[in-house]
Amino acid sequence: MLQQNVLRFFLLLSCLYFVGGCSTAPSGAGVMVRDSHERLNGVLWIQTSAEYEVMAQTLYVQAKLALDRSLADTSLSALEQAGNYQSLPPAIVVDIDETIFDNSPFSGRLIKERSGYDHGIWTEWAKQGAAAPIPGAVDFLRYAHRKGVTVLYVTNREYDVELATRKNLQNLGFPLTTTTDTVLTKNEPPHNWPSDKTTRRSELAKDYRILLLIGDDLGDFVSGAKSDPATRRQLAQKHKKRWGDSWFLLPNPLYGSWETSLYDKSLRDQQVLQKKIERVKGF
Ligand SMILES: [Mg+2]
Repeated sequence: MLQQNVLRFFLLLSCLYFVGGCSTAPSGAGVMVRDSHERLNGVLWIQTSAEYEVMAQTLYVQAKLALDRSLADTSLSALEQAGNYQSLPPAIVVDIDETIFDNSPFSGRLIKERSGYDHGIWTEWAKQGAAAPIPGAVDFLRYAHRKGVTVLYVTNREYDVELATRKNLQNLGFPLTTTTDTVLTKNEPPHNWPSDKTTRRSELAKDYRILLLIGDDLGDFVSGAKSDPATRRQLAQKHKKRWGDSWFLLPNPLYGSWETSLYDKSLRDQQVLQKKIERVKGF
């Protein structure tokens, strides 16, 4: 009985710490540390599970089949495609983070430091250019390149880490051309691309026939990904026919517009955790 009571006490204590966050030591830009971390299972799933590896590989095998299909059928068109696109050179648009780059060590560091998102730590990670590839990604993009398909990297990494990103891509063997700029980063001059990728996709659709889109976030495919969760789901369902056909989505349980749609950006770290817990359905 005594043992049970002691156990209950510790369970209650750890729950209180999780709900409120442990407010003893600030980390990075004033972010409070937590005793538990909501990225923990996601990071371990990506870094250790057979299931994640198989899932990513399967997706890239399916993308390869779709690529062959769309090369043969020039009537297929991307969302932003207009005019006489059939004769344009073929290309695919891929996101970088958590689509072809595994940045889980960045999330792992946040867990170890018991911190929320920290832009300083992110920049430090990105500048190292040490991301590993997502399983299946290098093989698929090299296949596309061999087939004469231009690989266009549309990323919301900031322009200040473009050089490090290019080196990382190159070191991993991803196809890169030197004749045209195929890495389109956020705020990149002279265009100063906004985080909504629609403008970049529309511009690229003027010069290429876009065969496939590959990403880990709804925003890698359509505009409006930053709405509330129900609207996001409706938006995704509106394009049901494209998923698995010309749009391929990698799972990302760590972060993304799905996560930021759950709370107001102005909230403090502890309040964000509270908002998330309020969203959880139990019984
Ligand atoms: Mg991404």
